[in-house]
Amino acid sequence: MKSIVIKNLPQFQLASTTTTLRSSLLYKNHCSSLRFTTGAKYIRRGKAAEERHKRIAITSTKTMMTPTTIVLDQFITGKFLASLIAFVFLYVLCRSSNDSIKNRSKKNRGHVIAQNDVVVSNLVTEDEFSTDVIIVGAGVAGAALAYTLGKEGRRVHVIERDLSEQDRIVGELLQPGGYLKLIELGLEDCVKKIDAQRVLGYALFKDGKHTKLSYPLETFDSDIAGRSFHNGRFVQKMREKAATLSNVRLEQGTVTSLLEENGTIKGVQYRTKQGNNELRSYAPLTIVCDGCFSNLRRTLCKPKVDVPSTFVGLVLENCELPFANHGHVVLGDPSPILLYPISSTEVRCLVDVPGRKVPPIANGEMAKYLKTHVAPQVPTEVREAFIAAVDKGNIKTMPNRSMPADPVPTHGALLLGDAFNMRHPLTGGGMTVALADIVVLRDLLRPIRNLNDKEALSKYIESFYTLRKPVASTINTLAGALYKVFLASTDEAKTEMREACFDYLSLGGVCSSGPVALLSGLNPSPLSLVLHFFAVAIYAVGRLMLPFPSIKSFWLGARIISSASGIIFPIIKAEGVRKMFFPSTIAAIYRAPPQ
Ligand SMILES: Cc1cc2nc3c(=O)[nH]c(=O)nc-3n(C[C@H](O)[C@H](O)[C@H](O)COP(=O)(O)OP(=O)(O)OC[C@H]3O[C@@H](n4cnc5c(N)ncnc54)[C@H](O)[C@@H]3O)c2cc1C
Repeated sequence: MKSIVIKNLPQFQLASTTTTLRSSLLYKNHCSSLRFTTGAKYIRRGKAAEERHKRIAITSTKTMMTPTTIVLDQFITGKFLASLIAFVFLYVLCRSSNDSIKNRSKKNRGHVIAQNDVVVSNLVTEDEFSTDVIIVGAGVAGAALAYTLGKEGRRVHVIERDLSEQDRIVGELLQPGGYLKLIELGLEDCVKKIDAQRVLGYALFKDGKHTKLSYPLETFDSDIAGRSFHNGRFVQKMREKAATLSNVRLEQGTVTSLLEENGTIKGVQYRTKQGNNELRSYAPLTIVCDGCFSNLRRTLCKPKVDVPSTFVGLVLENCELPFANHGHVVLGDPSPILLYPISSTEVRCLVDVPGRKVPPIANGEMAKYLKTHVAPQVPTEVREAFIAAVDKGNIKTMPNRSMPADPVPTHGALLLGDAFNMRHPLTGGGMTVALADIVVLRDLLRPIRNLNDKEALSKYIESFYTLRKPVASTINTLAGALYKVFLASTDEAKTEMREACFDYLSLGGVCSSGPVALLSGLNPSPLSLVLHFFAVAIYAVGRLMLPFPSIKSFWLGARIISSASGIIFPIIKAEGVRKMFFPSTIAAIYRAPPQ
């Protein structure tokens, strides 16, 4: 009898099993520590079994392999066939596992570009499991949000149309309240090393008079102040910081649509510069931050966009503003002119032109308007630099939009930043609102570990719409109301109100610190806003009654109160009275964390 001992087969089987587990472990370890533990257990078990088999094989070899005793097992053919099948099965398993690991690691390096439908659908399936939040747009709101959610451990996919540094005239003065939010988000270093300037308050100019309004910063750390800078530099810093997080993926691409399924937003469709194909990305939450010209907001809110005016932007070089480290507001004719430093050598000038239509730049009408009508109104210290900037010709325009937040609660998506809510930029409140919103959202999402919990997510998003209101609405209402008060008018009541506003702010004490605390975002209290607004109106009326009231002054006083009410109440109504003044009466804000 011949003895045939097939002792290598079990060892091979174990080795290949171990190899497969080990390679899948390498991938899984990358993905989750839970899987690592499970995989390690398998490996330990595999090794123990391997040792056991080795010992058995050696023992059986020792016992059976005597040169003379050769035992042919009666089931040898069956066992051989079974082992062969097992071998083929394991080989196939091993190959397919390796292929999938190759595909996945290829994706992890971010090199997967859709070449055909198969790859796209692979990408879709992969993304469905690997992204918690998609952010559309990496401007002020999107970049700050990406870093914030990334730091919270969320896997974030940001899709931004243009990742290069932008040269824009928007978002260049961050109020101290906004800077405090930046600190809360851990992003304060993004205003460092960009030649940002500290801003300590405002100077108001009217008909040759001026008044200085300092931010009420006495109770804050010396670092707290406003910051002014090039918007592009600031945004780029935030993008860079977000990109340092391994769980934040920043991709250049233009989102073309939101993907909806049974009323739930499942993700986005987008196009990259390199690929002609439309790509898709899926996540349980999509946050749209595509700015003031948003194409995607329509399904997520009821946009009522108003364009009260247009800002014409210039950069003034090598000049000193009358008040260093201050924003300057000239109560000009027909509307305000803003000036503030954006670097150690440059001053931004924004000239407000009421309405949507501005004099054309190309045919020189704009330059003419700026030189003949605006230049005489800017402070003498910067007039020469203003004319030089007009001559240089780098004139930009931007419509000033206002849009109250009016969300359509939708499963799986929300809007943020200017896509969601806009106000006149006169008071420089947009970035403060966006950053304050991010703080509210971060805190609300924190207890929801699984964003696939659709119901919990939707409830917290509903709470977000209420919780953000008092701060956002105060800043929005102030901007809208102040712009209307600061407009030059032929209406006597409005002219009185404008004059009284300047004089009220010049009184000092609480009359200036109160409104400036509102404007700076340091105390965005709706009640304080209404009180100061009507205090200005009453101050205007009171002055008319002195030294003796007359029928004419009574009549004018009544018109002032009516005009003041006509300015502020429609804005408050659009913002939502209950959410703005009585948010605590809305049940959504008492939401307990999900179990
Ligand atoms: C003239 C002007 C001056 C202003 N000055 C100030 C100021 O001094 N202080 C202040 O606080 N606020 C100011 N604001 C408001 C402020 O600029 C905004 O509130 C702020 O920029 C909003 O940030 P955001 O991220 O929503 O939008 P943005 O900063 O505009 O970012 C939107 C981003 O989305 C990207 N994007 C758009 N569409 C797509 C798409 N389909 N796919 C992918 N990406 C897309 C864009 O490329 C962009 O990067 C000003 C506004 C204006 C109009």
